[in-house]
Amino acid sequence: MCSNLTHSNAAMILSHPGHELRVLGWLKEAKPLVIVLTDGSGHTNEPRIELSRTLIHEAGGRTASIFGSYTDQQFYEAILHQDVKFFQRLKKEITNILIENEIDLVVGDAVEGYNPSHDLCRCLIDRSLVELQKAAGRRPLNYEFPLVALPSIWSDHPEAYCYRLNGNDQEWKLDQIKSYAKTVGGQLLDEVEDSLAKFGNEVLAEEWFTPATSALDLSHFEQKIPFYERHGEQQVSAGHYKNTIRFREHMLPLINAMGADGTA
Ligand SMILES: [Zn+2]
Repeated sequence: MCSNLTHSNAAMILSHPGHELRVLGWLKEAKPLVIVLTDGSGHTNEPRIELSRTLIHEAGGRTASIFGSYTDQQFYEAILHQDVKFFQRLKKEITNILIENEIDLVVGDAVEGYNPSHDLCRCLIDRSLVELQKAAGRRPLNYEFPLVALPSIWSDHPEAYCYRLNGNDQEWKLDQIKSYAKTVGGQLLDEVEDSLAKFGNEVLAEEWFTPATSALDLSHFEQKIPFYERHGEQQVSAGHYKNTIRFREHMLPLINAMGADGTA
């Protein structure tokens, strides 16, 4: 059991604003520097990044120079058009932020095959840390947390870390989640309500982090089509997007180009 996840100079790296809601208790305790890649505008064109900025600041966190810097549309275009330079630049910028702020612990998105931006965010984190080691000769701790699965899904990992919220913080967290979801509305509100109905409010009491391994072996997506490919086809049919992002065609070449060993 690793016990120092709240005593480090931490950074949190997320693809989308709103992911911080999953680990709000830890955020309030660790007060990390937070990087968010996109503004959360999705296909609705209503960014929610400022909502996250306010929440993160109120919880004591700091926001980095990359914070909602891209629209989701720009991110998807970069994936579809195989814009390797876009991702290499992003990797360099993240690395520089981590070095400048002397970060010694990074937590962030995990690969779940749910959303291409989540998965690429995890690859960017892992590769940035390889770059950091090369440039600065040290390697921060690297943890991930699930965004879709139950928070405790990987809790049997021998080095899993659990942050437990006290009663007041649980209430505070629930209020924040509800008010965030209500402001954003639409699908997010439905998802929050469904999740609380399904798992109960107790699900908010524990926030689990595991050493990042989800991007080490992505080959299973060659056999088992990730959720985002199936969902993407529906989104294209509904007219939200023009093309479906596919693992083998779009994700794998970019991930490889980012440098499996950090050399790209
Ligand atoms: Zn997301």
